[in-house]
Amino acid sequence: MTTEIHPIRVAILGATGAVGQTFIRLLAGHPWFQVAEVAASDRSAGKRYADATRWIEGEMPADVAGLTVTACDPGAVSSPIVFSALDSSVAGEVEGAFAAAGRLVLSNAKNYRMEPDVPLVIPEVNAEHLALLDTQRVRRGWSGGIVTNANCAATMAAMALAPLHAAFGARRVFVATMQAVSGAGYPGVPSLDILGNVIPYIGDEEPKLEREMQKMLGHVELGAVVNAPFVVSAHANRVAVENGHTVCLSVEFEHAPSVEAARKVLRVWRGASAVRGLPSAPPEPLHFFENDDRPQPRRDALRGRGMTVSVGRLRADPLFHLKFVAMGHNTIRGAAGGSILNAELLVATGRAGVT
Ligand code: NAP
Repeated sequence: MTTEIHPIRVAILGATGAVGQTFIRLLAGHPWFQVAEVAASDRSAGKRYADATRWIEGEMPADVAGLTVTACDPGAVSSPIVFSALDSSVAGEVEGAFAAAGRLVLSNAKNYRMEPDVPLVIPEVNAEHLALLDTQRVRRGWSGGIVTNANCAATMAAMALAPLHAAFGARRVFVATMQAVSGAGYPGVPSLDILGNVIPYIGDEEPKLEREMQKMLGHVELGAVVNAPFVVSAHANRVAVENGHTVCLSVEFEHAPSVEAARKVLRVWRGASAVRGLPSAPPEPLHFFENDDRPQPRRDALRGRGMTVSVGRLRADPLFHLKFVAMGHNTIRGAAGGSILNAELLVATGRAGVT
C-alpha cells in the first residue's frame, strides 16, 4: 500500500496486561501509529510504565518505558485512536465513554461484540461489516465508535471456516479447543493448576465460541448483520502451552465437499483484497499444511509474525463431512494484531476519521 499517512497518536487502555504489552511490542516502529499514551487501573496510574508493568517478552521499547500511566478516562487521554486491552469487568463503561468522546476504540473485550450496531471484524473475512459504524454513530449519537475483534479461539476457527463456508455453506460445526495459558492474561493460571494438566473449563469461553462465528460469517443487510445460519457446539480446554490456541473442528455443510475440493479452497484463500499490503497484513492469512503433524503452536504460532492462522489435518469426518485443525497466536492474531489490522483498514479506507 502506498498511502502516505503521518504518524497518528494512539493510546492503549489496559496497557500493562498481556494483550496491552502485545500492542506495545507490535506497535514499536509501526509506520502509521505512534504509542503516545498508556492507561490502566488505579493501581498503575501515576507510575512510569516501566515501573507499573511486569514485562513478559523481549525488551520493553524505550520510548514507552518512560511514559506515565494514566487513568482510563477520556479526559486524561487525548489520542484519536484507542486500542483497548481492558478487562471485561470495566471495558463496557470505559470504551463507551471513549466512543462518546469522539475516539475510535478498537476493543478486545467481549462487552460490545454482539451488539447489533457494533462491527465484530476479522479484516480478511468480513471487512464490509465496518459499515455498521455508520449505524452505530447515528443510533448512539457517538462521534467516535467501537470496533471489536473476536474471542481469540473463535478467531482461529472463523478464519479457517470462512472460505469453506463461502464455498459449501456450513450447517453444523463442532469445535474442541486447546488454549494457551497466555489467553488467561497475566499472571493468569497458577502454575500448579496447569503444569502437566488440562483444565476442561474456561469461564464464558464456550458461549463466545458458540455465538461469535455466526456474526462474523454473516452479511450486512440494511445496517444490521444477518447471522450465518449454522449451529456451533464448543468444548474449551486450557492446556500447558505458552502461546497459540489450537482448535479441532468437525463441520457439516449444505453441499458436502470432497476433501480435495476443500483442500483447494483452503490452499488459495487470501481474504478481502482491501487488506493486502496493509502494514500488519500477513502475506498468507491462512497457511494450509499438507503434512499430517501440523499445525503445532511451538512451530507455527509465529508464522506471518503471528498473524497467519495455520490449518491442517483436513480429512473426511464419519459424523459430519470434514474435520481439520486450526491454530494461531492468541495475543497477536487473536487480540492485539487483529485490532491493529482493523485500525489500519479503517485508516486506509478513510473510516477512522483521522489521517
Ligand atoms: P490482563 O493481562 O489481566 O490485563 C488486564 C488489563 O486491564 C491490565 O492492564 C489492567 O491494569 C487493566 N485493568 C484491570 N482492571 C481495571 C480497572 N478497574 N480499570 C482500568 N484498567 C483495569 O488481561 P489480558 O489477557 O491482557 O486481556 C485483556 C482483554 O483482552 C480482556 O478483555 C480479554 O478477555 C481480552 N482478550 C485476551 C486475549 C488473550 O489471548 N490474552 C485474547 C483476546 C481477547 P492493571 O495492571 O493496572 O491492573
